[in-house]
Amino acid sequence: MRTLNTLPVLAGKRVVLRCDLNVPLDGDRITDDGRILASVPTIKRLTDAGASVVVISHLGRPEGKPEAKYSLAPAAKRLGELLGQEVFFATDTIGSEASGAVKALAPGGVVVLENLRFNAGETSKDAAERTQFAKALAEFGDFFVSDGFGVVHRKQASVYELAELLPSAAGLLIEQEVAVLQKLTVDPVRPYVVVLGGSKVSDKLGVIDHLLPTVDKLLVGGGMVFTFLAALGHKVGSSLLEQDQIETCREYLKRASELGIEVVLPTDIVVASKFGADAEVEITAADAIEQTPFGASGLGLDIGPASAERFATEILAAKTIFWNGPMGVFEIDKFANGTRTVAKALSETDGFGVVGGGDSAAAVRILGFSDDQFGHISTGGGASLEFLEGKELPGLSILGLDK
Ligand code: ADP
Ligand code: MG
Repeated sequence: MRTLNTLPVLAGKRVVLRCDLNVPLDGDRITDDGRILASVPTIKRLTDAGASVVVISHLGRPEGKPEAKYSLAPAAKRLGELLGQEVFFATDTIGSEASGAVKALAPGGVVVLENLRFNAGETSKDAAERTQFAKALAEFGDFFVSDGFGVVHRKQASVYELAELLPSAAGLLIEQEVAVLQKLTVDPVRPYVVVLGGSKVSDKLGVIDHLLPTVDKLLVGGGMVFTFLAALGHKVGSSLLEQDQIETCREYLKRASELGIEVVLPTDIVVASKFGADAEVEITAADAIEQTPFGASGLGLDIGPASAERFATEILAAKTIFWNGPMGVFEIDKFANGTRTVAKALSETDGFGVVGGGDSAAAVRILGFSDDQFGHISTGGGASLEFLEGKELPGLSILGLDK
């Protein structure tokens, strides 16, 4: 893969830099600035070398036209604070304000352009439309540096076509993310434990399928648990359940036992009377979810304390750990214990612990952990999962990564 060192002299040049500034917002308040922070080293490296930097990014999922709530303005402001320098924000992406701001850039200067996805060309299914948009972006620089790891699994104009149009290289964040994921896929130090949670089984089936033969243990929590419990024949009340995936989960359990891989499912569950902070709560055995006072309307919203302790023990004994997906609805404190216990174990283990996934990364920060307590917190959810699934990622192969 081509890295920054492969680019010729940067002094006095303009670099178009694809970052992933797609941060969670509450109004215009950033609730987790991890991705902005992760973009800083490459920007600093480029400006220190005397280049000017045109930062491009998406935020959220606007549908090809401007929408105020998806503006990158708050992210640009935060970036300026973190860089400790003035960052100009252009209120369009390839319009007159953007091109004016780019022309006015002095060496070492930084401009952020408005949300790429306000333009239909960015995510168009039509390669010609993407190329047309990428050409307009390519006008803004001598080089292209790709550093938005969270989007490298997407064939989008600013990820793929732009890299074909300018001399291009991976930034420091992508370089680091790839190095970490290679540690997990090429000869991981054993025992290797994978912890999966989150809301949907169907999102994570591919990764289970691919990882099963390579892991020593697979721990399952979060909303996916209930489809696995249903596969074992248990009733799950009104918990999240993907009926059409039950059979697949049953096959995975069978395959795992044939391979001698332990799939650790929770043995106790935190069941709630309803979804919300004011719900009543009961802890019950995983095979007795409907036997609480809430009956069949009970909702499993977290793994129980005994299961959380079991998961922690496995994590503490492992040498390599990959964790994706919260163990429960951590956004509500009553249901955050499983996620907190897993995060704590991951922060204490001697093994190399990687957190992947947007919500998982946000969870550990919201629960009060700091990034340096973990081996690595990936900025890419889908991207890191697809990498672990062994898929070819367009945004990495275009930078010369062999798969
Ligand atoms: P990531 O972004 O880290 O990959 P996901 O997007 O897959 O994670 O899942 C995150 C969401 O899963 C969180 O918003 C959390 O509330 C939800 N979740 C976890 N456990 C449950 C559960 N038992 N029932 C419903 N939702 C859950
Ligand atoms: Mg998510």
